[in-house]
Amino acid sequence: MTTLVSKWNYPTTVRFGAGRISELPDALSATGISNPLFVTDPGLASLPVVASTLKILADAKVPYGVFSDVKPNPVESNLTAGIAAFKQGKHDGVIAFGGGSALDLGKLIAFQAGQTRPVWDFEDIGDWWTRADADAIVPIVAVPTTAGTGSEVGRAGVVTHEATHTKKVIFHPKMLPQIVIADPELTVGMPPFITAGTGMDALAHCLEAYCAPGYHPMADGIAVEGVRLVLENLPKVFANGSDLTARAHMMSAAAMGATAFQKGLGAIHSLSHPIGALYDTHHGMTNAVFMPYVLANNRDAIEERIVRLAAYCGIEGGFDGFAATIRKLRADLKVPNTLGGLIKDLAMDDARKDLIAEMAIVDPTAGGNPIPLTKQMALDLLNKAISGE
Ligand code: NAD
Repeated sequence: MTTLVSKWNYPTTVRFGAGRISELPDALSATGISNPLFVTDPGLASLPVVASTLKILADAKVPYGVFSDVKPNPVESNLTAGIAAFKQGKHDGVIAFGGGSALDLGKLIAFQAGQTRPVWDFEDIGDWWTRADADAIVPIVAVPTTAGTGSEVGRAGVVTHEATHTKKVIFHPKMLPQIVIADPELTVGMPPFITAGTGMDALAHCLEAYCAPGYHPMADGIAVEGVRLVLENLPKVFANGSDLTARAHMMSAAAMGATAFQKGLGAIHSLSHPIGALYDTHHGMTNAVFMPYVLANNRDAIEERIVRLAAYCGIEGGFDGFAATIRKLRADLKVPNTLGGLIKDLAMDDARKDLIAEMAIVDPTAGGNPIPLTKQMALDLLNKAISGE
């Protein structure tokens, strides 16, 4: 007898469409938030997109506080400061506004502000999330300004544990935002490097979820269409950031990737996480560097699936055709072929490589790789991403 067992969680309301940021005051009332903390990052805080959004709140006479001390790849001290701001302003909910960094930190503030245990007690391990006081979690309205992480429809937040230089995934079902405003106009100002990196992140989510073992036809279906949307639209938004139709498709693909990766991720992420934690590289760009090496490594386990995916996307040549498409996309988007293109003066000795391989095999995403990720395999993949061979 086959055991076709899977799990599906997706109750967030997504208000999708250009201009829908104007609905922010209504989204707040719908979630019962009367005094939100607006969480964003310092780069965004200096851009007109934040000023115009805060004006929408002011015009609607919504009182709010702003917290923008959020690093790309946020760290624990950002969370501590955010919680202090939340308590000081007596806020009753969070608007998480930005890319994955600000979205994750906003979600984590809403989750952690009312807890008594340290945030590390809620790492995405087994049922650790059940330790949390669910009633103390305040509502979240999420507004993505990048199209990549899909954090707006996810139940987790990523934060770096500075003492050990590890990226930790903190999980709770109630960390899922109640309402998402997915307004592609907000992504138009992304510079090309962030457009490319975040778009490749969405692709990595769809691709790894689709290739992860296990029974999940709903995740697979979403992932396959997500891959198609990225392949068709990422080159368009890279060439012309104002192409609102392509921006909208990328925003969908990002949410689809995060929805699909409930099924699992794989070695692209297992290796990208330690590199991001140790070298502070952009998450999506780091995924993009590893992508072709991991794809080739997993070939025996995924060839049949990739052949089907290639056919769906209209790519000729089966697995090889798909792999060539990924390499061409990377080159067109100016993604470096090696880690040296992302990390200045990269020089890794054997001890450092060993550490990264150790971190990769214990990363929670490693279990989703279609071939069990051994330390030797992680080392080989790392060496390929360094040499480009
Ligand atoms: P980011 O949030 O770190 O933002 C990168 C840069 O882009 C910042 O400088 C920001 O100011 C700028 N930016 C964002 N939107 C912009 C816009 N519209 N116009 C101009 N500049 C803009 O980047 P990201 O890739 O979206 O997020 C990466 C983070 O998300 C990492 O910490 C990663 O670990 C995390 N992540 C979380 C999940 C999850 O499921 N929660 C999934 C994947 C990644």
